[in-house]
Amino acid sequence: MQIEPIEAFEDNYIWALRKEGQVAIVDPGEAAPVLRFLEQTGDRLCAILVTHRHGDHIGGIAELVAHYPVPVYGPAREAAEVVTHPLADGARVTLPALGVYFMVLEVPGHTLGHISYYRPGVLFCGDTLFGAGCGRVFEGTMAQMHASLARLIDLPPETLVYCAHEYTQSCLRFAHTVEPDNAAIDVRAVDVAKLRAAGQPSVPSTLAEELATNPFLRWNAPGVIAAAAARLGHPPANDAATFAAIRVWRDSL
Ligand SMILES: [Zn+2]
Repeated sequence: MQIEPIEAFEDNYIWALRKEGQVAIVDPGEAAPVLRFLEQTGDRLCAILVTHRHGDHIGGIAELVAHYPVPVYGPAREAAEVVTHPLADGARVTLPALGVYFMVLEVPGHTLGHISYYRPGVLFCGDTLFGAGCGRVFEGTMAQMHASLARLIDLPPETLVYCAHEYTQSCLRFAHTVEPDNAAIDVRAVDVAKLRAAGQPSVPSTLAEELATNPFLRWNAPGVIAAAAARLGHPPANDAATFAAIRVWRDSL
């Protein structure tokens, strides 16, 4: 199976999972780029996967299924207007046309029903985790989002992280502000700048890269704990409080 980005809007990626003329897509916020992709490749659409209910992830589905009546997998807790196959935590999605299956992880926080799709080596995490960043906590609590991210970092470090937005450069600038002494952040910023200058996506990254550079996953790092303490005016009470202090800081910029 090959995984390729289809660019949408300003900075969204719709992921295309391709094998032998069949393709499944993840989070089609708009239909036109997907229809163009199908025309150019000649691929046959076999399924749509949805991570959460925001318009820039589901906005293209009605038009796509009008052309291609394929199953639409998505969170059991939301997006009911487009999802035909609702999925709860621990569900298994089998895509026979591609010969693969994914496990469903509920990761509430950005929205309450947000899910991720995982198979060994590959994670589609929507707007939960970004390159060097994480999604805004719109619906859940900071503790929920922290717990969701904690689930994701338990996955193997070589897992490729396919997020839904090209936000890595601005996230790395914030990461540097949080941890100015973390050299891995500076190295990654140089690498990402080269990719972007060449018109290449900065994603997927690996979970290992995120663990080394993403301040929203580094609640155990002394530099991040110190930065959170400076923001709070006292030491953070626990990991979730460290995460929350960094997230609130980011939201304030
Ligand atoms: Zn979203």
